[in-house]
Amino acid sequence: MTLTVSVLGATGSIGRSTADLLDQHRDRFRVGAVAGGRDAAALARVARALNAEFAAIADPEGGPALRDALAGSGIACGAGPSAVIEAATREADLVVAAVSGAAGLSPTCAAIRQGRTVALANKESLVCAGDAFMRDAKKFGARLLPMDSEHNALEQSIGTGRIDDITRMTITASGGPFRTATRERIAAASAADAAAHPTWSMGMKINIDSATLMNKGLELIEAHHLFGIEAERLDAVVHPQSIVHALVTWRDGAVTAGLYVPDMRVPIAHCLGLGDRLTIARGKPLDLAATGSLTFERPDEERFPCLRIAKAALASGGAQPTVMNAANEIAVAAFIAGRIGFYDIAALVERACEHFAARFPAAPGDVEEALAIDAEVRRWSEAALAA
Ligand code: NAD
Ligand code: MG
Repeated sequence: MTLTVSVLGATGSIGRSTADLLDQHRDRFRVGAVAGGRDAAALARVARALNAEFAAIADPEGGPALRDALAGSGIACGAGPSAVIEAATREADLVVAAVSGAAGLSPTCAAIRQGRTVALANKESLVCAGDAFMRDAKKFGARLLPMDSEHNALEQSIGTGRIDDITRMTITASGGPFRTATRERIAAASAADAAAHPTWSMGMKINIDSATLMNKGLELIEAHHLFGIEAERLDAVVHPQSIVHALVTWRDGAVTAGLYVPDMRVPIAHCLGLGDRLTIARGKPLDLAATGSLTFERPDEERFPCLRIAKAALASGGAQPTVMNAANEIAVAAFIAGRIGFYDIAALVERACEHFAARFPAAPGDVEEALAIDAEVRRWSEAALAA
């Protein structure tokens, strides 16, 4: 039986790794829809390579270029947010949600409201709208598969165990490119310095989040929602080799852990397999003797204040994670554009969290409310940067 897979964010880093696996297992999968942001040529290339039925470009102006690039292929296409929603909601056995940022929330949620099985890479949608998102998944009978490497390792480490029997879930962080750098050196870092990730090759936004350790903060919030586990039982540890991705500590002291080489195709294959194990051609086997040593250290929340801010947002709950995520997206974009410095990211995010604490005390009641808060925080953050 062939399974139909749709890929949202098909031209990105996760999208390309997913496409590689779909291509390696053509006997198993057919591709329903692919969606991308602005690059019509890249989207047409992946749509043709995978022989997709439908391609959607989010940029409303991108339609003509996409149509030209797909001419003669027989692949239907559309442009603008409604076309992306169509890509998300077409019949599929599995939808891979790999858009970057809160831009992924609407399409991912649309797939969930169709009761689809969704492999979730797009952690920002859970941070932006966590409770509402999970309620929708339950209400519409959607199944969520964690594609983020740490959460996929958690899922594999939990196995058939009970969440109640878990005393601690630990996710690891590589520590990013500034793990051993002084505060002065970090303060002077450019986006290019911050994007030079030691172990993973990823999209620009998550690269910067990894350098600030905001990525780990987003992931703690992601784990809280995905596994229904409270903040007190969650933590993060720095592990520079990126081999152990997560550890689960059980009531009796036993620890199960998820290990693999830092190649996103491993967790992606786990999701695509839907219970079967897929082989990965050109995959590198884990060789612990060659790795030599696995080391662990506590994250430094002085040099990486974003992790502290994210933990505080998780602990206070309400709309704080929604606010934090929106301000962080604006701050990271400004840092990439060279408009602000590295520590201005944390400063803006913290100001936004304080500013909106009284205005938005409660967690958004539904995804639409989360998007409205997200939009208002973005406007405020832009204005704060311009002031
Ligand atoms: P990326 O920037 O490389 O790719 C993002 C994709 O989303 C691109 O295809 C882009 O065209 C598309 N896109 C942007 N806006 C869109 C919109 N409005 N509608 C449809 N498509 C749109 O990012 P990435 O590194 O692949 O990360 C994607 C998501 O996966 C992020 O949430 C990230 O945190 C998460 N993630 C990534 C990695 C990784 O190794 N790259 C690992 C774990 C989790
Ligand atoms: Mg991760």
